Amino acid sequence: MPTDGGVAAVALAESAATKVAAYVHVPFCRRICPYCDFAVVAGTDLADRYVSAICAEIQRAEPFDDPLAAIAFGGGTPTALGPRALEQMLAAIESRFGVASDVEISIEANPEDLNPSTARELTAVGFGRISLGVQSFDDDVLSALGRVHTADQAWEAVGAARDTFASVNIDLIFGTPGEQLRSWESSVITALESGIDHLSTYSLTVERGTGLSRAVLAGAPAPDPDLQAEQWLRAADLAGGAGMVRYETSNYARAGHAVVYNLVTWAQGEYAAFGNGAHDHRDGLRSWNVRRVDRYIERIEQGDSAKSGSERLGPWEREVERVMLGLRRAAGVRAGAAGQRLVTSEGGVALRDAGILEVAGDRLRIARPLLGDGVSRALLALAPGDC
Ligand code: SF4
Repeated sequence: MPTDGGVAAVALAESAATKVAAYVHVPFCRRICPYCDFAVVAGTDLADRYVSAICAEIQRAEPFDDPLAAIAFGGGTPTALGPRALEQMLAAIESRFGVASDVEISIEANPEDLNPSTARELTAVGFGRISLGVQSFDDDVLSALGRVHTADQAWEAVGAARDTFASVNIDLIFGTPGEQLRSWESSVITALESGIDHLSTYSLTVERGTGLSRAVLAGAPAPDPDLQAEQWLRAADLAGGAGMVRYETSNYARAGHAVVYNLVTWAQGEYAAFGNGAHDHRDGLRSWNVRRVDRYIERIEQGDSAKSGSERLGPWEREVERVMLGLRRAAGVRAGAAGQRLVTSEGGVALRDAGILEVAGDRLRIARPLLGDGVSRALLALAPGDC
């Protein structure tokens, strides 16, 4: 299972702390998948007003001192909007914030929305990277997940993406009840054989308030954590065998294809975020917008802020967060005050003895990601200290 903990990966991971990024949330979906708890709505009735609101929110935002290293359009389903609307929002960001010469501009899409023609339109607008919500190449699993697309559609969409975009990611979900290990392996192998540049794997989780949660409460089977652990390990082995390197707990990339936007967030870098439910991080302040789409639009149209809350972490909390976020990366994190306290704490010593936490010079990394939750717990159990 190759992991990217090398010198170049460490430099890339740490340099992301000084980069800045922007995120645009597009909440529209054809229908709501039963496992999804994102801030989304079915249909595009509010799309025109939403796009205008996003552009207005961008115009009111303070630019960073530096140009953007990454712009990410996520959702929801950004491609539920046409290319002109996407172009309008992207142009608003570029003119308000400025962009670095090598800026990464990415978009999420669902397979049913991508064909050779739409792929060309998206790249003409400026998107260089696409992330496809394939989730599985097994029609039974897709059906169990409540997805609109079929495995064949997913395969066609990946082909269109590969022919057009500079960098292509596939998202896969593991642990769908009824999914056998063999089916999961087959999905991972199909994804890798499609020639993608990046693979993100997610374990299916039962989020409160979702259709899946209600079904499980009514007696439907829940995801099996033991099988999910086995599936995670198989994906790691298969991706490594295909020449991909694991650079984060469940993210794999070919050289040069790690996601800059994600690296910024894991390095406590700053990012501005626009849209309903969007979270941003600026000047040490984390703040978030109102979650409902209609309320978001109303607030912006009335000239009000869309913010519904914020928190500023104290120095110690911020230091603990730095280590927790940094430990998600295979490159690990500089130990610093919290890391040094961790490795000498009772919990930290036990984690090192168990081979879960690794110390190399002034850096820490998690050697057994499936057991990484114990490291977070040990960090949070530390009494606040100086930093
Ligand atoms: S398409 Fe994605 S964002 Fe939309 S409901 Fe399904 S999982 Fe959620």
